[in-house]
Amino acid sequence: PAPVVAVVGRPNVGKSTLVNRILGRRAAVVQDVPGVTRDRVTYDASWNGRRFTLMDTGGWEPDASGMAASVTLQAEHAMRNADVVLFIVDTSVGATVTDEQAVRVLRKAKTPVILVANKVDDARAESDAAALWSLGLGEPYPVSALHGRGSGDLLDVVLESL
Ligand code: GDP
Ligand code: MG
Repeated sequence: PAPVVAVVGRPNVGKSTLVNRILGRRAAVVQDVPGVTRDRVTYDASWNGRRFTLMDTGGWEPDASGMAASVTLQAEHAMRNADVVLFIVDTSVGATVTDEQAVRVLRKAKTPVILVANKVDDARAESDAAALWSLGLGEPYPVSALHGRGSGDLLDVVLESL
């Protein structure tokens, strides 16, 4: 079977936008409303002729209840079972307490993680991405899921990790 690349992070960081960017079509649901992607949704993807399964997840939230709790459990299932996790952070906001809590869950899952610094829409924002080294997940890879900036370089890194 194709390796599974799961896209996880707190609500509204741009997970579904990145999935759409990688797929090259508007397949994943993107909205300003957090928690729109409720389940783990998988897509067949390829880059440089290599196939992989791309998994979009809903927003991970600590202390979630009701619907948000099941979304969070689905995201944690993806964290444990993927071959590699793309952990998405909103660089325009910076690392939040919620991001740090998600990192703790990721550590326990023991799945390899690539740190994606999303919303780096221009060169000026790249220095903000460097601040995300503080999360302890290694090098942050700056991308703009919205505009495509850095997404090819990210995919090269993803495939090298598989
Ligand atoms: P998700 O909840 O993590 O799946 O986030 P979405 O993909 O639904 O995106 C949430 C919001 O962030 C939407 O308004 C997107 O247009 C916006 N967004 C996503 N990626 C970027 C980006 O690279 N740059 C900017 N400026 N906005 C983005
Ligand atoms: Mg989404």
